[in-house]
Amino acid sequence: MSDEQRLDGKVAIVTGGASGIGAATVRLFAEKGAYVVIADIQDELGNQVATSVGTDKVTYRHCDVRDEKQVEEIVAFTVHKYGGLDIMFSNAGVAGGSQSSIIDLDLKDFDNTLAVNLRGYVVCIKHAARVMVARKTRGSIICTASVLGSVAITATGGFDDKGYISSKSGILGLVRATCGDLGEYGIRVNSISPYVVATPLATKALNLDVSQVEELGVAAANLKGIVLKPIHIAQAALFLASDQSAYVSGHDFVVDGGFLAVNQTFK
Ligand code: NAD
Repeated sequence: MSDEQRLDGKVAIVTGGASGIGAATVRLFAEKGAYVVIADIQDELGNQVATSVGTDKVTYRHCDVRDEKQVEEIVAFTVHKYGGLDIMFSNAGVAGGSQSSIIDLDLKDFDNTLAVNLRGYVVCIKHAARVMVARKTRGSIICTASVLGSVAITATGGFDDKGYISSKSGILGLVRATCGDLGEYGIRVNSISPYVVATPLATKALNLDVSQVEELGVAAANLKGIVLKPIHIAQAALFLASDQSAYVSGHDFVVDGGFLAVNQTFK
């Protein structure tokens, strides 16, 4: 039986690929046959991920998604090195900067979160789409949103980061606003909304004790303790990157062990 989730010969950029969800996705995409460029600002970690895959099919390159020129440059680099661009996984993110009440909110923190988590996504979609359209590539653009784009609480406790929640809601809107522009070129745009995933970002922002991570993976009446692993999100990204999702566009793929459904039901 053929594996329709193979990515043989496809070329991907993974922003935030030096750590967490991004790093797991880089490994999975490479295992499935893709060429991958990791775009991140953690140079040592990014190079480690590329080296750990152990082939010349994965390359790390410094890219701060807040800087449009750096994003444009990494897209050009990718096309030059690997001959095209089929998949943009816009995934880089920051959290935890603006958790104070709106009354005391420091807009510097808010602006920085939005610069990475929303403006950075706009820029990545723009430059990926430009080369995909020019090269007539029926590409896939995938953005990491969050269940916090839909609700402002988590089962592990309150999390009211104004910048984070606004940016993740913004990504859901951005996907809807963009998929129409690109549909006529056969380019798909989707998002993934993970629940809590055991990564450095969540550990810091939610004070997670990763030794307590309990993987249930299914909806439960008491959701406390559900923490996903990066591979669970990477698998969703693989589906959206592969031809198995050839007609899926403009959607949000929620990977939350039932959190949103149960949370909304009991409200
Ligand atoms: P992580 O901290 O492990 O990875 C985030 C990566 O983004 C890091 O490698 C970091 O260096 C990179 N990054 C930050 N700012 C950047 C910039 N300006 N330019 C380029 N790269 C930059 O965290 P993660 O949990 O793997 O986060 C990946 C995505 O998943 C984020 O968008 C995050 O908001 C989202 N997410 C995470 C969770 C969770 O619970 N971990 C839940 C929902 C959504």
